Amino acid sequence: MRKASVCALVALGAVLLIHGGSRAGEPVGRVAVMCGRGVQAELGERLASAVRESFTCATSVSLLDAGVPGTDAGMTPLIRATRKAGDVLVLVVLDEPSAVCSNALDVSSEGYAVVNLAGYRPRGPRSPGTDEVTVQRSEREALRMVGALVGMKTCPLPLCALSESATLEELDAKGMNLCPHCRYVSEPLIRKAGIAVEPRRLKVKEQPAPAEGD
Ligand SMILES: [Zn+2]
Repeated sequence: MRKASVCALVALGAVLLIHGGSRAGEPVGRVAVMCGRGVQAELGERLASAVRESFTCATSVSLLDAGVPGTDAGMTPLIRATRKAGDVLVLVVLDEPSAVCSNALDVSSEGYAVVNLAGYRPRGPRSPGTDEVTVQRSEREALRMVGALVGMKTCPLPLCALSESATLEELDAKGMNLCPHCRYVSEPLIRKAGIAVEPRRLKVKEQPAPAEGD
C-alpha cells in the first residue's frame, strides 16, 4: 500500500515536471525576447525582466542566429526559424541604424514587435555602446509593445508605461511600470494570449489591532 502511494507521488511529480507545474487549463506560453545581431543576451534579459515584472508573465531570451534581414518581410521567416513551441509573442531587439527596422510599433499577424536600440541613443543611432538611458527607453518601449501585442489600448495616463510618447523626452518622462488600471486589464489578456501568468504578490499591510472597547 505504502509502495503504491510512493508510486502515485512519483507519477504526480513527473506530470507536474512535464507541464511546468501548471494547474490544469492554465496557459503555459511565454513572451520570447529575441536578440538580433550585436545585441547582447544580457540586454535581452533586461527587457525580459521588465516585461516579466510588469505583466507578471513568463519570458525567455534567445539570440536570432542568422543575420538581421534587410526588410520587414525577411523578418518573419527568421522569427519562424528561431521560435520554439510556447513562444506565443516575440519581442525582437535590434540595434540597426538603418531606417528599415524602425522603432514604430510593428505588431504583425505573426505576433511580434520590434524594439530598435539604435533609435533610443541620446547621441544618435550610430553612437557606440548601450548606456543606461538607452536601456531604460528600450524597456519602456518593450512594455508598450507587449501591451499592444495582447490587444491593450494606449493609456491616457502619461506616467504609465503604456502611454504614447511622441518624443524621446516624453519617453523619458514615462514611468517604468503599468498603472493600476493597465495591470488589472492586462492579466486576463495575457492569459487569453496563452501566456503563463504568475499570481500577483499581494502586499498585505499589517492592520493595527482594534483598541479594546471600540
Ligand atoms: Zn495605464
